[in-house]
This record gives sequence, C-alpha cells and structure tokens, in this order.
Amino acid sequence: DTAAALVERLTQIVPDFPKPGVLFRDVTPVFADPIAFGRVCEALAAPFAVGGGFAAVAGIEARGFALAGGIAAQHQVGVLTVRKAGKLPGEVLSEQYALEYGEAELELRPGQLEPGTRVLVVDDVLATGGTAAATVTLLERAGYEAIGFAALLELDGLSGRERLEPRLPVATLGAV
Ligand code: IMP
Repeated sequence: DTAAALVERLTQIVPDFPKPGVLFRDVTPVFADPIAFGRVCEALAAPFAVGGGFAAVAGIEARGFALAGGIAAQHQVGVLTVRKAGKLPGEVLSEQYALEYGEAELELRPGQLEPGTRVLVVDDVLATGGTAAATVTLLERAGYEAIGFAALLELDGLSGRERLEPRLPVATLGAV
C-alpha cells in the first residue's frame, strides 16, 4: 500500500471532538502500525529530500514529535521540538497566534543548531495553517531556514495551504 492509502485506511474520524460540531481526524493508528509509520515518514520527507535537502526536522507538539522523530532517524538528522507555551526551560522564543476561538502560543529554544540550518516542519494535520505559520516564524526568528511543511492530512476549505505556500512549499499525503 502507498503511504496515502495507509493514512486514509487507518485514520479514524471522531465526531464532536474536542468539542461539539468538530470532526476530528485521529491519526494515532497510523503511528501504532509498524509498517505504516515508517512508510508515512518516508513519504512525508521524500519531496524535501531533493535539492538542498534538510539538516533537521521540527516537530509541532504533540503528534508532530512522533513524525519528526521517525523522519529524523531515517535521514540521520536531528529534531527540534516546537512546544506549547510554558514547557521549555531557559531562553525561549514565543509566538502567539489566533485560533478559531481564542489564542495559542508556541515556543522554541534558540541556539541549538547553526544559523541557516535547513529545517523541515512536520505535523499531523494542516487546518487553517496558523500553527504551521507560527512555527515557521519561530524557526526564522531562531535564524534557521524553513524549507518545507509536511503533514499527513490537510483539511479542505480552511486555506492552510494557501496561507503557507507563499512562504514555503507544502506537501501532504491526503486532503479531506
Ligand atoms: P491549524 O493551526 O488550524 O492549521 O490547526 C492545525 C493544528 O491543530 C495541528 O497542530 C493539528 O494537530 C491540530 N488539528 C486540527 N484539526 C485536527 C484534526 O482533525 N485532527 C488532528 N489534529 C488536528
């Protein structure tokens, strides 16, 4: 099976989570499957391994961490963890962004890699793109070059791709 077919088959659709009216895509069965996990990690990184490639993978808390770890191990590069506010010690860069209701904040520890390091950004689902855009901003503020964004799924009609593509290329394994 292709990575896209595995994502489609294994992802579970959960109505009314985390709140009424939301149709949540739960990709954790893709992580739990020993064949699917490695295969989707390969497929996520493949479009970005050509040309200059990438020297690190940034995972967005929390499901992005699993994907970033898998991709990084396959490509023998390191991981940056982009975390929700208040989790990282020491000096941190913070970026607030708007959610559908309210605000969120992500943080990154600067100074862990050389300036100019080429970083691939990964997460499980691309919706409005706010989370990914804030992550790209954090990476740029830390002096890195965000070379692409990869996710298992993108949600149609929320314009996440349109929001990101002026800044960096986007690749996903499916649209729902
Ligand atoms: P965005 O910032 O609107 O693009 O939302 C993307 C963020 O919300 C990502 O970190 C996702 O993990 C999470 N997210 C939004 N919708 C879903 C979903 O249906 N399933 C899993 N995660 C989701």
